[in-house]
Amino acid sequence: MSRPKSFRLEGKVALITGAASGIGEETLRLFAENGAFVVAVDIQDELGQRVVASIGSDKVTYHHCDVRDEKHVEETVNFTLQKYNGSLDILFSNAGILGPWTSILDLDLEVFDNTMAINVRGVAATIKHAARAMVAKKTRGSIICTTSVAACLGGYGPHPYTTSKHALVGLVRSACKELGTHGIRINSVSPFGVATPLACGPFNWEPSVVEAETCARANLKGIVLKARHIAEAALFLASDESAYISGHNLVVDGGVSVTTPIIA
Ligand code: NAD
Repeated sequence: MSRPKSFRLEGKVALITGAASGIGEETLRLFAENGAFVVAVDIQDELGQRVVASIGSDKVTYHHCDVRDEKHVEETVNFTLQKYNGSLDILFSNAGILGPWTSILDLDLEVFDNTMAINVRGVAATIKHAARAMVAKKTRGSIICTTSVAACLGGYGPHPYTTSKHALVGLVRSACKELGTHGIRINSVSPFGVATPLACGPFNWEPSVVEAETCARANLKGIVLKARHIAEAALFLASDESAYISGHNLVVDGGVSVTTPIIA
């Protein structure tokens, strides 16, 4: 789809985690199209470097960072600050894993801990270090986390995943007041089923199967949910157009989480 060029993030510096694939990759492309300088981080280095090279702009840089490791996160924020004269305006803390679907009776606590380490602790580490940088420079920044429709409802993800995404909504609400005193906004975006490796992987589904399943469940019939729709929500929360929105969970699910269908 060709769109008119827009410059909603002109001159802003953004850090995106999980930027090598899916929603993070699409948001990286959209932020870059909108004039931002972006540091894209992931653990899939080859893929991340390929994505950045395909954008073909010196305003976009790839950097390795495993969000489970606070030292990596701190070093990544410092890398960004050194590159851009101490500036960091936007954090899109998006990296996450789904993990296997199992019965609660067979809950694997190692899987539980790893899911929490990436989806909650990793996001918390990115918020901590990005917010420190914003406070130090008195930047009226925007922090956005990727939660999930599984933050609103049970049954839309494995138990550890659902727990982790509920926790993130709590973290956003908890941090909102204090960050607000520094002029920093924090919000989350909650997608439904987007055909990314995360959603297709567990059942080895083709993207078209995930898209058909999402279409069938959503209330917006005939519209195929794409990573771009989530990226647009992240762009809105990153831009000045959402200047008075903080502590909010923006659900992008075609209305699924507000209705319980009586006919499946
Ligand atoms: P994806 O698998 O395409 O992308 C996730 C990225 O995160 C990958 O590139 C992966 O390498 C990276 N990552 C994983 N562990 C990491 C770590 N320890 N450190 C740094 N990077 C790491 O999946 P996606 O669907 O684009 O997922 C992005 C976010 O969206 C996740 O937080 C996910 O929970 C959320 N989400 C996705 C859907 C969906 O249907 N796809 C729905 C709701 C929420």
